[in-house]
Amino acid sequence: MSAPLLAVENIGRRFGGFVALEGVTASFASNKVTAVIGPNGAGKSTFFNVLSGVLPPSTGTMRFKGRDLAGTPQHRFAHLGIARSYQITNIFPELSVHENVRVAAQAFRSRYDIWRDRAALTELDDKAAAALAAVGLTHRGSATAKFLAHGQQRALEIAIALVADPELLLLDEPTAGMGPEETKEMIALIEKLAAERTILLVEHKMKMILGLSDRILVLHHGRLIADGNPQQIQSDPEVRRVYLGQ
Ligand code: ADP
Ligand code: MG
Repeated sequence: MSAPLLAVENIGRRFGGFVALEGVTASFASNKVTAVIGPNGAGKSTFFNVLSGVLPPSTGTMRFKGRDLAGTPQHRFAHLGIARSYQITNIFPELSVHENVRVAAQAFRSRYDIWRDRAALTELDDKAAAALAAVGLTHRGSATAKFLAHGQQRALEIAIALVADPELLLLDEPTAGMGPEETKEMIALIEKLAAERTILLVEHKMKMILGLSDRILVLHHGRLIADGNPQQIQSDPEVRRVYLGQ
């Protein structure tokens, strides 16, 4: 059997004396959607920060395709195949939609290559166009980013993450602030993206999570209290007590 795409063992993270994440062990297979749920402050964003290299774990090991990630700097994560969107929007409001993605493509490339010629610029444009097409924003390419609807801005952030061609995509609350129509479109986008990559998402909308996820992890006070498919999670007594029953 091949190594799981990502395997974490006994991951923990402290902030001073405060334990935000403790003893989390899980592994993730390819082309599945896993939701991470839990009350506010449960450690979900901290977990994503650790998985995407934004924060080093205080304890534990992480392996991506069998490779130990210890000591790997954050920018290497994207090159290895792990990308994320942020809970807080991360786009340049005055640039066009296309420019936003091209800047990301250039930043991703320029760590190793110096781009000077026309062909290289065309390649960046092609890369940006492909990422915009993947999220259904081709028709908005020339719009100034700040004029996009909220849902389209979130889709743009995902396009920015896609320029790295990630095998693992982490989405922190992709439907935050969305109404039912935009949420529906985001669900369809996530389903489409999941056909070609592994997705981890933090979400609060329970109906969406149950319909979309192959698997659900439940964090509570930084600990993983449940890990299973939607049916298992819905009938888990501890989950019902700390989360669903709120
Ligand atoms: P969630 O995303 O589940 O709402 P977070 O992971 O953001 O939770 O936060 C978990 C806990 O860790 C919270 O109590 C939060 O205040 C704390 N925390 C998160 N990031 C930091 C930080 N950089 N410094 C200190 N405490 C933090
Ligand atoms: Mg959070």
